Amino acid sequence: MPTLAKAYIAASATSPLEPGTIERRDPGEFEVLIAIKFTGICHSDIHAARGDWAGVKYPLVVGHEIAGVVEAVGEKVTRHAVGDRVGVGCFVDSCRECVNCRAGEEQHCLAGSVSTYNSLGRDGLPTAGGYSTSIVVEENYVLGIPDGIPLEAAAPLLCAGITMYSPLRNWGAAPGKRVGIIGMGGLGHMGVKIAAALGADVTVLSQSLKKQDDALRLGAQGYHATADPGTFEALRDHFDLVINTVSAEIDVDEYLSLLAVGGTMVMVGLPPKPLTLRTWSLAGFRRNLTGSKMGGIRQTQEMLDFCAAHGLGAEVEVIPASKINEAYERVLTSDVRYRFVIDAGTL
Ligand code: NAP
Ligand code: ZN
Ligand code: ZN
Repeated sequence: MPTLAKAYIAASATSPLEPGTIERRDPGEFEVLIAIKFTGICHSDIHAARGDWAGVKYPLVVGHEIAGVVEAVGEKVTRHAVGDRVGVGCFVDSCRECVNCRAGEEQHCLAGSVSTYNSLGRDGLPTAGGYSTSIVVEENYVLGIPDGIPLEAAAPLLCAGITMYSPLRNWGAAPGKRVGIIGMGGLGHMGVKIAAALGADVTVLSQSLKKQDDALRLGAQGYHATADPGTFEALRDHFDLVINTVSAEIDVDEYLSLLAVGGTMVMVGLPPKPLTLRTWSLAGFRRNLTGSKMGGIRQTQEMLDFCAAHGLGAEVEVIPASKINEAYERVLTSDVRYRFVIDAGTL
């Protein structure tokens, strides 16, 4: 018998999220039923709930930064036990057989990974995300949350944490490397913490000076306001790696000019509109422009263990579910320090 879970639901791209209920299936033999405790509000939830991206289907329950406790397991589950602290990120299944799944890059599954929301699951039913009181997920797509990280600080690691950890590791953030983080929101602030823990020299590029004290406290060595044109002069040809987390369009040429010869800019922000650039901005200094999407299950577990070992978690403002719509407005005006997290007990 499926159980009813409480949830916050977007009925359309223009309606506010409203409380309601959804059905969760009983866990299959390899599945885990998770009692959700906290869910982070990622800017991607807002893009999806508001129809910024093509292909969003309503009604929709968003949320892919899920932290909770295992409530029940199917009879063949071996990786998790009742009472374990666990997390679920941006996808809940993939084909497991393609070259990318076998390489631990399930987020790039050739058959299409199953997103935590706005996808069709193996059962043929639409997936529903973490703005709910429970979720059922196959055990291989459930992460273990180390004891050292409080669940509310761990939830945002499941998307913001891995989305920054993956490019920082894949493009070699390390001592002696100059790393720039554009935008200090949910992703950006985790980028600062993780890059600093990896030993890199981190600089934040934020719209204003408002977040400077926080950035330095989180481990940044430099901080510049992008509203000040002098910033682009001062930092010209400076960085080995720049990660762009901005949810809106940016002037790509301007930021590429901050890369040293052979430097790399990684796009993780997903603005609704296309960006343009002059190819000379790349050719001139043999610069690289690339992108990155979350990370695979193995690297996500590595990130969680790394965060626990370095005492890292997200800086969070825990809110009751009744404040979700207000929180969305605050995220849209960059007024978040630095991730809203929903207390699932209030759904
Ligand atoms: P967020 O908390 O809203 O942070 C975005 C930051 O970008 C803001 O805090 C702000 O930083 C800056 N910003 C916002 N509007 C701007 C503008 N018009 N001009 C310049 N800077 C601006 O969002 P988030 O949750 O970190 O997500 C950021 C983006 O990454 C979203 O597009 C999201 O969909 C995407 N995302 C991608 C992946 C992936 O796998 N690639 C995963 C998760 C999220 P300052 O106040 O410091 O300027
Ligand atoms: Zn996300
Ligand atoms: Zn696959």
